[in-house]
Amino acid sequence: MTALRSLKTIDDLQGAGLVSAERRAGLDAVALRYAVAVTPAISALIDPNDPNDPIARQFIPDAAELLRLPEEREDPIGDGAHSPVEGIVHRYPDRVLLKAVHVCPVYCRFCFRREMVGPQGLGTLASQAMDNAFGYIAGHPEIWEVILTGGDPLVLSPRRLASIMERLASIEHVKIVRFHTRVPVVEPERVDDALIAALKASGKTTYLALHANHPRELTAEARAACARLVDSGIVMVSQSVLLKGVNDDPDTLAALMRAFVENRIKPYYLHHPDLAPGTSHFRLTIEEGQTLVASLRGRVSGLCQPAYILDIPGGHGKTVISASTIEDNGGGCYTVSDFNGEEHVYPPASAGKQPL
Ligand code: SF4
Repeated sequence: MTALRSLKTIDDLQGAGLVSAERRAGLDAVALRYAVAVTPAISALIDPNDPNDPIARQFIPDAAELLRLPEEREDPIGDGAHSPVEGIVHRYPDRVLLKAVHVCPVYCRFCFRREMVGPQGLGTLASQAMDNAFGYIAGHPEIWEVILTGGDPLVLSPRRLASIMERLASIEHVKIVRFHTRVPVVEPERVDDALIAALKASGKTTYLALHANHPRELTAEARAACARLVDSGIVMVSQSVLLKGVNDDPDTLAALMRAFVENRIKPYYLHHPDLAPGTSHFRLTIEEGQTLVASLRGRVSGLCQPAYILDIPGGHGKTVISASTIEDNGGGCYTVSDFNGEEHVYPPASAGKQPL
């Protein structure tokens, strides 16, 4: 059944046939804890007769989300440790995150910022906080790139996006503006002329990182939305999360990367799933991830190879998972090197499972 509006409660999902009466037990508690939203484009993609549907797994709540492991963290990639002013994360010298909004059109069940996004999350940056964030960017000439993330920045109206771009256009040292979004896939109709115009500003180069995890997400409508963006001169790259039960097999991963390249989207990041609360049912081991990524080499074109990335817990930044940056200590424990060459133990703690 195709829904005409976004589904935001367990009742909505059950009414649309996406949650059965048997599966419902426990899901109200999940929905109280973590935001729920499924757009019409996504509900139309879900096969309700497939209990293992990889699209449903990404968006339909699961009672397993109530299981929290000791090593899981509310801020798994350590944004808070690098936030000099509200809305800004300055982890690397030449770039900042600008988190203008903490709302998304869908809520991914594995989200690394699940404690911050949603109707009860941090909301939209207030006008004074926005002024402070732009003041910070303007006062740091080493900032070459501003990355709009959140939340999904493309939920903002074209008017608000254009206002952000105008303010960035007035900061000479910012050359690149990058948007991280799921909108072209989950709400492709939103990508119209007004939105596209709002993403561009004189003197700045706009990149758009599309988050998609399964080749079925690249529907005809999503492909058309991406084509509109690329035709307008916006450069697109991909970001995906390696997820158990979604894309953890070589054929699916290869088809996903090929779908990106066919749509003029350069595969960029393939993230190892973060230690977000209640997401252990999505996590593979790093060894399993390395085997999958190795399977892409030779199988698909060099254009289709993403970088396999671990965000080191505690805010130590991203590291490419390769033999030179990660050492297997056995028993599921690793030593990883960050971009400063400092070593960290991963995962940071390990013990048995406990309920929330
Ligand atoms: S779109 Fe991004 S920020 Fe929003 S729920 Fe999904 S992973 Fe989290």
